[in-house]
Amino acid sequence: MPKPILKIALDVPLDRLFDYLSGGQTAKIGQRVLVPFGRRSQIGIVVGMADTSEFAIEKLKPVTQVFSDELPIDAETLNLVKFSADYYQYPFGQALLSALPARLRQIAPAVSRKQYAYQLTDLGRQLDIEAIPKRQLVTRRVFAALQAAETLTKVLTEATLDEISSSARKAAKQLVAEGLAASLQVQASVKTLETAPAIAPELNQEQAFAVAQITQNNSQDVTVFKAWLLHGITGSGKTEVYIRLMQHVLQNNAAQVLVLVPEINLTPQLEARFRSRLPSFALVSLHSNLSESERLHHWQLAQSGAARIIIGTRLSIFTPLPNLKLIIIDEEHDSSYKQQDSMRYHARDVALVRAKRLNIPVVLGSATPALESWHNATAIAPNTSNANIDQAKTSQAQANKYNLLSLNQRAVTAAQLPHIDCIDTTKVNLQHGLTPQLIAALKLRLVRKEQSLLFINRRGYSPVLLCSACHWIAPCMRCSSKLVVHLGQKKLRCHHCGHEQKMPKQCPSCGNADLHPTGHGTQRLEQTLAILLPTARIARVDRDSTSRKDALVEILDKVHHQEIDILVGTQMLAKGHDFPNLTLVGVVDTDSALHSPDFRASERLFAQLMQVAGRAGRADKAGQVIIQTQFPEHELFNALRTQDYVTYANSLLQEREQVQFPPYVFTALLRAEANDFALVQQFLQHAFALARSLTDKVMVYDPVRPQMERLKGMERGHVLMQASNRSALQHLLKNLVGELRGKAIATKVRWAVDVNPLEF
Ligand code: ADP
Ligand code: ZN
Ligand code: ZN
Repeated sequence: MPKPILKIALDVPLDRLFDYLSGGQTAKIGQRVLVPFGRRSQIGIVVGMADTSEFAIEKLKPVTQVFSDELPIDAETLNLVKFSADYYQYPFGQALLSALPARLRQIAPAVSRKQYAYQLTDLGRQLDIEAIPKRQLVTRRVFAALQAAETLTKVLTEATLDEISSSARKAAKQLVAEGLAASLQVQASVKTLETAPAIAPELNQEQAFAVAQITQNNSQDVTVFKAWLLHGITGSGKTEVYIRLMQHVLQNNAAQVLVLVPEINLTPQLEARFRSRLPSFALVSLHSNLSESERLHHWQLAQSGAARIIIGTRLSIFTPLPNLKLIIIDEEHDSSYKQQDSMRYHARDVALVRAKRLNIPVVLGSATPALESWHNATAIAPNTSNANIDQAKTSQAQANKYNLLSLNQRAVTAAQLPHIDCIDTTKVNLQHGLTPQLIAALKLRLVRKEQSLLFINRRGYSPVLLCSACHWIAPCMRCSSKLVVHLGQKKLRCHHCGHEQKMPKQCPSCGNADLHPTGHGTQRLEQTLAILLPTARIARVDRDSTSRKDALVEILDKVHHQEIDILVGTQMLAKGHDFPNLTLVGVVDTDSALHSPDFRASERLFAQLMQVAGRAGRADKAGQVIIQTQFPEHELFNALRTQDYVTYANSLLQEREQVQFPPYVFTALLRAEANDFALVQQFLQHAFALARSLTDKVMVYDPVRPQMERLKGMERGHVLMQASNRSALQHLLKNLVGELRGKAIATKVRWAVDVNPLEF
């Protein structure tokens, strides 16, 4: 007898499950159901079954509908989401529902391509095959196949039926009509390419070593958990290593590989490369640029096991993958792996947990690994002679959590690392913000018919509008930020909240009509170049110029067809793109990041500049990088000039250790915001006192305001908690959140916990 009470996860902000009666319907764990909730209906997921409820049975309502045609979500995925929800202090039901494609949150059966699979019913299970007349040969064979599928806990697909006989589908339908079998709708399978795989280059020694190391413990059916940090300079052939690993793993019959990428924009080229090299393996992508139905379709292909290669952005880490055997995280340092609202998970960290639970390898690739990862791969245990032995053991275990593999040379032998120059902007005459050296270098590229890229991390025309008389600067009324000038549209825009207003004709503070757009953004740089280099064909790449769906693809296409001489753009251009004829990279203005109060700013800037620099001279032409700065002797630029990630990372880590910042301590923020700051203060004071009273193993800091004090009209504040021991912090957070959820003051502000926050 199935248990009568279903424990159901719902998309509501309460950290609990809800009890419903099955009402005689058979539901499985992981199945999607429709239930009455308050006055409405809600989609839920069955996550448990029980004989009893803490509520009176007569008060429980039955589920309205079980979507039994859909594959249930498997236990592994449910457990992973549950773990993440607990770790990031977020309600499980909300975490679970938001991990699903939008179509699965809608109140309707969700089958994107109609196909059927079959399984036995209870009646069918009890039937002896001999009860089917011998002359109904096909029916008997179908029935036997259903029994065989049952022992493998599989369903019988139409593809298998077709192998049995051309009339097998009809026979299956007949069995359904007789009540012996049930049909369920499943999604169609993916097409693979018939083409021969593109020719693989011979691996160089470093690549071959990396592949051998990672594959050595993983055979056809045996895999082991290991986290590998593949540190390889740009162009060193990391992607080639991924491809070989995938090839190795995919030989195994049903194996699936998940490849995480930081940005949607990077999926098309990676997809194309994987398709050309691994054409016989079904590949799907999962990201927010897909239509809802595409997304559902791809997700279901992944869930059914039909898709063998899954490329996706951070959310895809929660995709059910029944045969997952390898996870690859490209550009693992990228901060877009961290979700910045709702459940604030880090896809890399969740991937590590998932790999460990499945006992499979996970490969983190980057030219500039996150300091956390670098620390995990390189830190050595403290000297045991004068330290407590136990402590040394744990920190050893913690430190060498990852295995380091390095690719130190560019894969294409002719390709050299670019030459990097820092030009002191205080010592030369700038022309519209550009140094004579950079302008000359651009002109040289035009003559040589080579391409250039100018990197500036600010879109718009200029970052501020300044009154020359009283130094008033146009502020955003809703955020603690300045409005950015968008001259083309004659508008001022806030890049934080989207607020937009007309350019004022005169200073609202003193009435002066002389208002100056001050500083450079992408639009202004584009305009400047058009004046200085009138023959150049220029394209701008930033969020404004690529908001249309295929805009970026079109621009990149033009670059590849040599229809563009100079690209001007933000970090959108820094990542991954491979332009063989691009030989010059100019970095226009990054000095503000050198002196940012954010302790991660230098790490981020270094990674960004290494990446843009990596765009120069990828093929057989030497590349040059020119960085304009007021601080050419800064340590960061010294490291950049020699492309020495290792030394720089180690020195940053040393600083972090001295001041006890992550990764040497574990942190969490309790964030709060409200229209009225007094409420925020009241809430945070309360939480602060509560946290202090709950533990003495965690440092709890006084409430403070973040760098961005006001955002979208909300006044903000936070309490920082810090511990040298992760479990002490987790323990505190759980208790703190549990207590806060019941408090009246907690209903008056918007609050959330951010575990391992990236932004303060
Ligand atoms: P990364 O991912 O580290 O930036 P890629 O894998 O994209 O590097 O490789 C850079 C370029 O070198 C690509 O054009 C790739 O086809 C080529 N390449 C990679 N490995 C080899 C190799 N062993 N021999 C020759 N070319 C290679
Ligand atoms: Zn003024
Ligand atoms: Zn704003």
